[in-house]
Amino acid sequence: MTQIQASQVSSSTLARLVEISRELNSKTDIDDLLTHIIQQAAALTGAEAASILLLDPHTRQLHFKAASDEMDPAMADAVVPLDSSIAGTVLTSNQPLIIADVAQDPRWNPSVSQAINFQTRSILGVPMHDVDRPVGVLEALNKHEGGFTPEDVETLAILADIAGVAVEKARLIQELQHAYDELNELDQRKTDFIAIASHELRTPLSVILGYVSFLRDEADPAMAEQLDNVMAAAVKLRSLIQDMLNLQYVDAGQATLSLEPINLGTLLREIVLANKDTIIARQQQVTLRLPSRHLVTMGDRQVMGIVLNNLLDNAIKFTPGRGRIRLTLEVNGAEAWLHVQDTGVGIPQDKLERIFKRFYQVEHHLRRQHEGLGLGLAIARELVELQNGRIWAESIEGQGSVFHVALPLQGYEAN
Ligand code: ADP
Repeated sequence: MTQIQASQVSSSTLARLVEISRELNSKTDIDDLLTHIIQQAAALTGAEAASILLLDPHTRQLHFKAASDEMDPAMADAVVPLDSSIAGTVLTSNQPLIIADVAQDPRWNPSVSQAINFQTRSILGVPMHDVDRPVGVLEALNKHEGGFTPEDVETLAILADIAGVAVEKARLIQELQHAYDELNELDQRKTDFIAIASHELRTPLSVILGYVSFLRDEADPAMAEQLDNVMAAAVKLRSLIQDMLNLQYVDAGQATLSLEPINLGTLLREIVLANKDTIIARQQQVTLRLPSRHLVTMGDRQVMGIVLNNLLDNAIKFTPGRGRIRLTLEVNGAEAWLHVQDTGVGIPQDKLERIFKRFYQVEHHLRRQHEGLGLGLAIARELVELQNGRIWAESIEGQGSVFHVALPLQGYEAN
């Protein structure tokens, strides 16, 4: 890298270079950045024009990436070989180079002049680095008065160092943006796939459920038992598909919510009742602790039902038979707080946030003992947030978990 010798570069030029460094660091668009660099290169060295050539690491050729307005815009296509060219010599020797009269230099290739439509007489070229690796060449062309001076050499070398880092930073940002865009596109495709697949699965499943139910009514006791098994499997499948379908609420956002006052205690009772059969089958003890007054929040009844059902369903699923589940509703300041507490397997501390990400499951999917797609909590969080609430979890592994939901309290309803 360049050693700054204060004796060569005037303090006013150094001050300008510091300013330029700040300007370059604030730019993230590469073309914008390159244009700014060449403008400064020409201005600082009193040259007619300037250009930047960047090395293509694959072809090992130098490509014009930016040049002053005086040059033909088609110059971007002009390629300069690394061997036996002036810019190539600057890059490979990693040293600045002054050519006072290009016509006298055997390395000068007049076809480049033609390609960029610019009559070059003199060149000052300095290497550009990314940390220590030379990545290109910065050139000042045709000094207005006299020849390029040692001060010009140092000034341009310092600018090239600043520029090299700024270009690399902008390139990384561009790559990151590109990766981010790709990720978003992939995420969108995944969402589209889920939406299509769940809709396509729902129709044949409804037919199966309809026929099984019809056959079950007509069947003798032995056959009825078999059909009950088929029915139970189909119902499980329907609940998995329902999870996928629920994503549509999240992706559609707030617009699809139909807000109305919801009596949270009543809703909790309904959810427990809807899961009664499973609770009884698993011999679990579910208690409901409601405050003396009915708490009301503004929300979408169906959507809030999905949230609470997901929480209770998990509590049932991840708590062994005969375990205890407690649902509590209380007032906390201007909010209604809802707690779903279980005595189940618990969740490791470092996973307490990750379980709210789509498709995340603590158990590896190949070793899973529980059904599910890993969507319930992600949906629950997004839906709660759409209704201006918060949801989070606490847990002690092996002892149980508690999921908290905080919602704006709209008011109270008479008992
Ligand atoms: P699913 O239950 O379909 O796998 P969820 O998004 O509802 O998806 O939950 C994600 C993961 O969080 C679960 O797979 C489980 O590992 C963990 N989890 C959720 N609720 C509980 C709970 N009450 N007790 C223990 N682990 C839980």
